[in-house]
Amino acid sequence: MKTLVTDIGLLVGIGTDIRKEGAAMSEVGCLKDAWLLIEDEQIVGFGTMADGLPSGVDLNWSAEGRMVIPAFCDSHTHAVWAGSREREFEDKIRGLSYAEIAANGGGILNSADLLHNTSEDELFEQSIERVLEMMAAGSGAIEIKSGYGLSTADELKMLRVIRRIRETVPAVVKSTFLGAHAVARGMSREDYVRLVCREMIPAVAAEGLADFADVFCEQGFFTVDDTAEILETAAKYGLRPKLHANQLAVSGGVQVGVANGALSVDHLERTTQAEIDCLKGSATMPTMLPGASFFLRDPYGNAKGFIEAGLGVALASDYNPGTSPSGDMRFVMALGCIRMRLTPEQAFNAVTVNSACAMDVSGIAGSIAVGKLANLIVAKPGFDTLGSLAYRYTTPFIDKVILRGKAI
Ligand SMILES: [Zn+2]
Repeated sequence: MKTLVTDIGLLVGIGTDIRKEGAAMSEVGCLKDAWLLIEDEQIVGFGTMADGLPSGVDLNWSAEGRMVIPAFCDSHTHAVWAGSREREFEDKIRGLSYAEIAANGGGILNSADLLHNTSEDELFEQSIERVLEMMAAGSGAIEIKSGYGLSTADELKMLRVIRRIRETVPAVVKSTFLGAHAVARGMSREDYVRLVCREMIPAVAAEGLADFADVFCEQGFFTVDDTAEILETAAKYGLRPKLHANQLAVSGGVQVGVANGALSVDHLERTTQAEIDCLKGSATMPTMLPGASFFLRDPYGNAKGFIEAGLGVALASDYNPGTSPSGDMRFVMALGCIRMRLTPEQAFNAVTVNSACAMDVSGIAGSIAVGKLANLIVAKPGFDTLGSLAYRYTTPFIDKVILRGKAI
């Protein structure tokens, strides 16, 4: 089945780069007055209307001058969770302490209790709603982490729900095992790390439930040594690292991530020149999560400094109940521009091709290229530049989302 989209006012994000770094982050391939040819799930051609249209198509529709961009890629989410932490939101506004918030049912450990008492079916029903919401907001590739289980059985339950989501939705879904999100109640850190390495990782690998392994390498959570031990174990089972690092303090997480060939190191609210030097020449994608900085009133990552140093940067939503309850990647792009001073082109590359790279899907998503999935956003009339998406950041801009060649 071949579908031809004609009269695209501006086709944005054309290119075959796997990642963009430094000055290339300011470059976005565009074509004015374009057509795009889709065969089944894939993009099979594009060109300008003036050059003439391909023949032998089954279906033909006009974009009526609208802008078309690749769907967003969200390389860092915790979209599977049980219940709500809205009460914690109000407690934080009222200035309650961490201990008081925990006593009221907040924090990761309480999320773990809630998840423990929620059936796999119910967890799926709650979580699929969030994934459908992210897709409607333009995300076509989504990474989802475990990490609210904190026991072998409950981590497996989360990962099975992620697998079921992957089998249900047209978005590309990648799964990350984050057993080392926090130390389970009543355990020492040493015992918990042993449980992660000796029991959880082998069990996860035996069912083929995860693509990646993640550790919360942060002050007060898991040390650099714990992280290295977990990542080395994960590597033996074929799980590539993605890491939480440098959210709460300069943790050494970037260095241990790069040393272990991490696909990405994520958060990076606090970094120094040493982190930039370490990332240079590595395959690791620095990933910043401005939605968490916004929600927590934390510093924003130094994306501009990283790019000026020649690095690439990805942006992701960190969609989770405690610190970033939004999976809207257009808002993430806007925060990139407004709070991190990225240009619209830099922010766009950060939420598309580079975020695809950070979840190892840039071969099939993140740009307009022959052979990639036809994951597209058709913008509403009036949104005809990348800057307009970030500038009018609460005005609905999506006319339609197309995933795997079909409107959702
Ligand atoms: Zn996270």
